[in-house]
Amino acid sequence: MKHKLFVLSGPSGVGKGTLANMIRERNDDIALSVSCTTRAPRAGERDGVDYFFLSKEEFLRRANLNLFYEYSEHFDNFYGTPRDYVEEALKSKNVLLEIDVNGGELVKKQCPEAVLIFLKAPSLEALRDRLVHRNTESFEKIEKRLARLDYEYGLERDYDYVVVNDKLENAYKELMEIIRKESE
Ligand code: 5GP
Repeated sequence: MKHKLFVLSGPSGVGKGTLANMIRERNDDIALSVSCTTRAPRAGERDGVDYFFLSKEEFLRRANLNLFYEYSEHFDNFYGTPRDYVEEALKSKNVLLEIDVNGGELVKKQCPEAVLIFLKAPSLEALRDRLVHRNTESFEKIEKRLARLDYEYGLERDYDYVVVNDKLENAYKELMEIIRKESE
């Protein structure tokens, strides 16, 4: 059986991280890739679990060696998917990447069979509320993230599926239906 690469993208605060973790915890046959990033860890984030936190120099060194499956710059920081992890995990499992829309497009270019899923908030107000209540970013950073929404929603049309995260459990079920259907 050939295993598939799934990409989950969507704006900040839409719940991608929560859903990706639910998928990992409840499904042994789906691997969730841990990305590298140059941004500083947020409170509670652990190196090697949430991200591999790298200096910019180290990130660019790895990028030059083609060690990332894809990478992109997002709000002045780099984020990238380790190539060796993805290629190794795909030998035995489906792999899920929780990455931004630019990363999604890069994945589709090198792996046309990858399944791209765009996660949307039910409304802009709901998204703003979630970002504010998450309390991990300054007001200025939240505004920056919201300002990027038009761009991100514009790329939604290149995605294979769009899921609205209204209720977490419903969105989870919908995502799993897509993953199961695409894995048949
Ligand atoms: P955050 O700083 O909130 O953890 O993530 C910011 C954005 O970077 C999110 O949209 C997240 O999905 C994206 N991201 C995380 N890891 C990767 C990655 O490996 N590659 C790309 N292209 N984006 C990523």
